[in-house]
Order: sequence, then C-alpha cells, then structure tokens
Amino acid sequence: MQTSDITVIGGGLAGTEAAWQAAERGIRVKLYEMRPQTMTPAHTGGALAELVCSNSLGSNLINRAPGLLKEELRRLGSLLITTADAHRVPAGSALAVDREGFAAAITQRIQAHPNITLIREEVTTLMQTSRRSVSETASGPVIIASGPLTSARLANAIHELTDSDAPLLDGAPSRNSGLYFYDAIAPIVELDSINFERAFRASRYDKGEEVAGDYINCPLNAEEYRSFTTELVHAEQIALREFEKEDAHFFEGCLPVEVLARRGENALAFGPLRPVGLRDPRTGQRPYAVVQLRQDNAAGTLYNLVGFQTNLRYGEQKRVFRLIPGLEQAEFVRYGSMHRNTYINAPYLLYPTLQLRSHPEIFFAGQIAGLEGYAGNIMGGWLAGVNAARWLQGQELLILPPETMSGALIHYITHADPETFQPMKANFGLFPSMEKHVRGKRARGEARAQQALAALENVKAEIKSEG
Ligand SMILES: Cc1cc2nc3c(=O)[nH]c(=O)nc-3n(C[C@H](O)[C@H](O)[C@H](O)COP(=O)(O)OP(=O)(O)OC[C@H]3O[C@@H](n4cnc5c(N)ncnc54)[C@H](O)[C@@H]3O)c2cc1C
Repeated sequence: MQTSDITVIGGGLAGTEAAWQAAERGIRVKLYEMRPQTMTPAHTGGALAELVCSNSLGSNLINRAPGLLKEELRRLGSLLITTADAHRVPAGSALAVDREGFAAAITQRIQAHPNITLIREEVTTLMQTSRRSVSETASGPVIIASGPLTSARLANAIHELTDSDAPLLDGAPSRNSGLYFYDAIAPIVELDSINFERAFRASRYDKGEEVAGDYINCPLNAEEYRSFTTELVHAEQIALREFEKEDAHFFEGCLPVEVLARRGENALAFGPLRPVGLRDPRTGQRPYAVVQLRQDNAAGTLYNLVGFQTNLRYGEQKRVFRLIPGLEQAEFVRYGSMHRNTYINAPYLLYPTLQLRSHPEIFFAGQIAGLEGYAGNIMGGWLAGVNAARWLQGQELLILPPETMSGALIHYITHADPETFQPMKANFGLFPSMEKHVRGKRARGEARAQQALAALENVKAEIKSEG
C-alpha cells in the first residue's frame, strides 16, 4: 500500500538505523543514498554506514556517557550497535570495529530486508516538483539523515524549507532559522573541573543586557598571557583537507584562536581576551587579559571557551588550554574543531520527537539534526525511524525520558539556546542534577547509569504494549 511508505534520505549511520527500525515495524521504506555515483568529500566508497574517520565508537563502559548511550541502544534493539558488537576489534574498554566488515554487514542487512528498497540516487529537492523530488514519490513521512556533508543541492532545499519556519518562534533572529555551515567549534569544559581559586564570575560592565555573573572569567597577567600565546601559536594543528580549506576561506570572520594569535602579540588581548570592564576580585585590578567561559547547557554544568574555535590537535588543546589560570585541570567534554558541518538549528526547528515543527511529517536524524558522535547519530536514527513508523500507525510519538543518555541528548538539541547552538555528543553534563549527591566520578557515573537504564525500561514497556 503506497500510503504506508517512509522515505529516508541518506544511507549513513542515522539513515540506515532509521530505515531498519521502521521496516522492522512492518513499514515499507525507500532509502535514498547518493553514493557511489555522487560522493561526499570524505566517504571512500558506496557501502552504507561508512565510518568516515575513526573506527572507534568510544568507551563501552556504562559508567561513561558514550558507553551508557551504546548500552541503551543495545537494549532498544539498534541494528548498528549490535552489528558493531559483532565486528569488534581489540581496543581496550572502547568499542572499535573493523570498519569494512561493519559497513559491509549493514549494507547486506539493509539490502536483504524485504521492506526496504535502496535507491542509489541523490535527492536534490524536497518540496518542489521535479524529476528527483522526494515529495513527488513520497506519500508518507520523510526522514532527512543526509549528514554533515549533505550534498549542496539538498542543503539548499533544506535551507529553503527551514528558513520558512522563521516566524514560528517569536523574537528569534532570522540567522537562527536555517541551515548552518559551521567550520569552527570552540571547546566545552565541565564546570566542576574549573578552579575557582583563580577563576571568578562576572559580566563586563559595558554589556547592559547581561546579568552580572553570567560569565566565568580566567584572568591572566602579562607574563601568563605571553607564555600562553607563545605555546598557542606553536602548537600542532590538524592538517586541513582540500574541501575544508575552501570552507575555512569562506569563514574568515570566524577565525581559529591560534590564527588570530599569530596576527600580533596583543591580537588576543585586544580581541576575545580583552579585559575591559572586568576586575579580578582577588587583586581588585583589571587583569592583562581574560579568557571568558559562557554557560552551554540549561543545567549550567558545561561552559564553552568564548572565541576559542580552533584547529589544534585534541591533545594540544588539552595541553595549551590547561595553561590558562583556572583551567589547569579542565575536563573537556568537547574539543574545538574545524570541518564542514551542515546542521539545522534544532532547538529552533525540531520537536523532541525529531519532527520539524512546521512540517510534522518531516523528521531529521543524525548529524544534520545537531547530534554529534557515531553513537549519538545512530540514536537519532533509531528515534526518527521509530517515531515515523508510530506516526503512520496512529500511535503517540515517543519522547525519550531525560534521565536516559539518549533522552538527555535529544532534550539538549531541542532545548538549547538557538543563538549559540552547536552539535552535541553524549556527556553526563547533559543530565538534570542528581537528587542525592554521589561522591566520586566513577560512583556518580554508576549511579547515572542505573537511573538511566531503569528509566529506559519504561520506554521499552511503552513500545512493547503498543507493538
Ligand atoms: C571529515 C569528518 C570526520 C569525522 N570524524 C568523526 C569521528 O572520527 N568520530 C565521530 O564520531 N564522528 C565523526 N564525524 C562526524 C560523522 O560524520 C558522524 O558522526 C556520522 O557519520 C554522522 O552520521 P550521519 O548518519 O548523520 O551522516 P553520514 O554517516 O555522513 O551519512 C549521511 C549519508 O547521506 C548521504 N547523502 C548526502 N546527501 C545526500 C543526498 N542529497 N541524497 C542522497 N544521499 C545523500 C551521504 O552520502 C551519506 O552516506 C566526522 C565528520 C566529518 C565530516
């Protein structure tokens, strides 16, 4: 029956999981993948679910956020995580896979599924009628899972679709309505790891709209500033790929902190590290320079380094940024990075069911929805696939509980500040505070995991009772 079709765009991590979950619920799925005819700048072949870079899906320990996320997915019957388990290679406590074996197995399972039709074609339009318009052939929900390297024509179509959503939320600036091509991301650290013997809370006096104390400030004297900038300009960078160099050129206005530092000895002290309007309460003086950190999640447990978009190697970021007074022991939940990254402004555009607010029959999943990390993208695919099927079957759509890692991540991407939104990966900072304080990082992780897995049982019961 034509009316029970779901269309999935993109046969990557999110798209294959979404297609599988819907197909397993008896829905016929058309899965569009443009490779190998049309390649992205990072994929190497035509296999579905190709891992574009690392072959590691991160920690497998359930007292760590990435490990907990994978355990939740296992319990929810994720095709990709159970296949990753089957193709595991030795990597200590991490889940790393034989990438070719993994992608070949997923391709085989998808192609063999009686409810899935794999169409090797680039989707170029969404709403208008044209030869390869999805709307022309789609009669049911559409799941967009075309990833960070979405083809240019589809990106334009998504931009048109999401831009028309701008009036939905009052007062939000129009730059928040559409699709981002972000090439530079600043690191995020855990609040608990900041040393408040050195750092202090304050806002600049000249920013009237800010509430006092909104920022965490790390003050540097002249000597500390010199030694920090010297290390920064000499730190090792990640080599850019050709397509990324083009993008970096486009985003001249959003320079990496190390590039800005090379422009002059005091470029940072007059730029993002300017101390104007700030006094160090320990000395009563204006510091020579100040690194500011801005709250990054509603719970106030994560802070990003303002103006610190960077292309340094991860190890170098840890070494150099820990030279900043107050960040000596900083725990990084996300490192800064630079690569082409196409994603929508999810807090502005999506419901926690992953439906587009203005077109509830359209779902977004994976990196384009603002999720980061392989497992996070798989989870987005799982939820979009399940919810698109439930939509067709007339069932209430699932909102994952925020006590689960999956639910906390979806909650973040759909409730973060649209002004500063950037993709997010699984981390414990996204959870609501625990009612009872548990001492010790490991014990806290265990407690989080127990709470999450108990909450997941309710989701499983809900799926089962209606299934
Ligand atoms: C250079 C680079 C390196 C990365 N390294 C890592 C890493 O080491 N670890 C990590 O966790 N994450 C990494 N990421 C992020 C990574 O891309 C995601 O974690 C994950 O692959 C995203 O899953 P996805 O399903 O959203 O997108 P993808 O896995 O990229 O899948 C999207 C699919 O959609 C297809 N597609 C695009 N446009 C169209 C169209 N118009 N029509 C039909 N099909 C289309 C693409 O060919 C692709 O197969 C990296 C990203 C990039 C760009």
